[in-house]
Amino acid sequence: MRAHSPFYRDFHRGLEQHPLSALPILTKSQLMERFDDVVTDRRIRLAKAEAYLRNGGPARYLDRYVVLATSGSTGRRGVFLFNDREWIRAIAAITRPIAWATPGSPRRRPPRAALIAASAPWHYSARVGQALANRVAPALRLDAGAPLAELVDRLNEWRPEALATYPSVLRQLAAEQNAGRLAIRLRNVATSAEMLTAEVRSLVRQAWSIEIQDTYGATEYAPIASECGHGRKHLFENGAIVEVVDDRGQAVPAGEQGARILLTVLGRFTQPLIRYELSDLVRVSQEPCPCGRPYRVIEAIDGREEDILSFPARGGGTVAVHPNHFHDAFEGVAVAAWQVEQLDSGLAVRLAGADAVVTARVADSLQRVLAAQGALPVALAIERVAEMPRGASGKAPLIVARRARPADGTSGAPAAPRG
Ligand SMILES: [Zn+2]
Repeated sequence: MRAHSPFYRDFHRGLEQHPLSALPILTKSQLMERFDDVVTDRRIRLAKAEAYLRNGGPARYLDRYVVLATSGSTGRRGVFLFNDREWIRAIAAITRPIAWATPGSPRRRPPRAALIAASAPWHYSARVGQALANRVAPALRLDAGAPLAELVDRLNEWRPEALATYPSVLRQLAAEQNAGRLAIRLRNVATSAEMLTAEVRSLVRQAWSIEIQDTYGATEYAPIASECGHGRKHLFENGAIVEVVDDRGQAVPAGEQGARILLTVLGRFTQPLIRYELSDLVRVSQEPCPCGRPYRVIEAIDGREEDILSFPARGGGTVAVHPNHFHDAFEGVAVAAWQVEQLDSGLAVRLAGADAVVTARVADSLQRVLAAQGALPVALAIERVAEMPRGASGKAPLIVARRARPADGTSGAPAAPRG
């Protein structure tokens, strides 16, 4: 790190005299507000990096940096830069879960693969897909925003053995396979970037008799954790210091759920991330994993703090309902996709592939789950849709928190998982 970056001058002094846990937390809005001060190459300017993202241009910004952005669906859009060395490390880290999933001697021929993700060039998965397709394996890349029928046709043609995509896309593909319209023989399936529910895991078992390998990551650092052969998610602690903390920033012991995590990413010097805050709800396991890896295991990622919705409670006041209760409400309900959005007037529920009977069952199941949490009955507006709306990143969040209302009265962008 360049010691004379203005943002870090005082910070440096702090670093020498205090433990990491005493240093200030860095939020995304601070990072973006002080962007030009935080970066360690003084030629980098946020306005220029954003213009580069908008207009495209040479392969690298300043002939040197890969520039990625988050979709900006929850608050300010994050912009992240990687120099060559940092980018190679990032790509190598992404390929590591593949080795975890297929232990033993490496295969001579990489599996025929398909990646269905965002296609926007600023998006992490698009850039990673590009880098891997060119260097590692023959891969078909499809846009997660494409119509389902088109995805099915292209996959039937390509016949991949390995597939990487978002859980919301996989859920629909597993249903298509179970219905016989999709006919591919998958041996490996990897998911990331959205909440993976028990229901999607079970649909995939039914479709291909395999287990999903789920990875938890962020544009800022990926993977943060990935599953070993025992199906347990290990933190990638060799590349970052991961702190699980409560909403006051105090460390939370193993076994208890934190309100956010703090990442101190090692080996990233262009844009240092020190105690960088992500609002994910994570619990570290107290049980060691039989695989013997030294990295801590996380038991649950229950969504983000923004996904906890609050409702008027029966006894007065409000009650906070965790995302996993919504997952429970939709467990075993025969829909191709679902989304719940909180409005001032109640809940908007979108269902794809549902008939009238299923719609009634969903309404009943949601009211029961909310009542069990102590909420008063909630007004439900259930809408049947052909395809679930996807954000700029191609993802379809299961839960959309109440929109922040901008001053001009127009509605803000819906929340989506980071990425
Ligand atoms: Zn393990």
